[in-house]
Amino acid sequence: MIRFEGVAKTYPGQARPAVAGIDLTVAEGATLALIGPSGCGKSTLLRMVNRLVDPDAGRVLVGGEDVAGLDPVALRRRIGYVLQGVGLFPHRSVAQNVATVPGLLGWPKRRIRERVDAMLDLVGLEPAAYRDRRPDELSGGQRQRVGVARALAADPAVLLMDEPFGAVDPLGRVRLQAEIGEILGRLGKTVLLVTHDLDEAVRLGDRVALMRDGRLVQDAAPADLLARP
Ligand code: ADP
Ligand code: ADP
Repeated sequence: MIRFEGVAKTYPGQARPAVAGIDLTVAEGATLALIGPSGCGKSTLLRMVNRLVDPDAGRVLVGGEDVAGLDPVALRRRIGYVLQGVGLFPHRSVAQNVATVPGLLGWPKRRIRERVDAMLDLVGLEPAAYRDRRPDELSGGQRQRVGVARALAADPAVLLMDEPFGAVDPLGRVRLQAEIGEILGRLGKTVLLVTHDLDEAVRLGDRVALMRDGRLVQDAAPADLLARP
């Protein structure tokens, strides 16, 4: 479970807060889709969970624990992170990318190799064909699959996804959304998904939260969201 308690953040030199006091909970095993116009504070809120941003006020709890008390390795073990396109290390192979967090955690080599292959299988990439490729030899959709495999490699309870399908072509996107949504549901991950695409939010979210100017203006089940103007 992820819980935001009264979090706020104003970046240095900015007149307006990026996040202006938000209380929000993502239930265990649920996906919350955060939507809203560009610049409304979605990424800032998401990045508070893995401490790429620390709030000026309030706190963020993951599984009941304040993330401010977790060291970088503990954060990476518990919280997977998928971001649009650019997230893979370009000079490392697919296997090395997927092995990032298990490597950080000091898993034995053999366990890492098995895990990498299992993760590639999970996201629909034949391990023998893909493990030695480099990111620039993959399509946008394949790169995002590797990004998901990397984020899930150490079996984190929580997954953060920031515009994960933004660099995927529109036809591939719908299929990838469906496949990844199915995998995350099956694994029971607690997911915070940032998107500016309402269709994607409704397709993948158990709940949809709408942000504007750093504030939460609605938090509803997808069906209720669409029922209102
Ligand atoms: P979104 O993800 O909804 O597009 P962001 O959280 O990225 O919104 O940004 C919210 C606001 O904070 C914007 O006005 C943005 O320009 C500003 N902002 C984001 N990151 C920084 C930063 N590192 N330094 C200063 N301002 C920032
Ligand atoms: P950014 O691309 O926003 O500058 P960083 O430099 O912080 O991100 O992170 C570098 C890479 O490490 C990113 O591509 C991201 O996928 C990964 N990463 C960052 N934070 C985490 C985390 N808490 N858990 C897993 N992977 C992470």
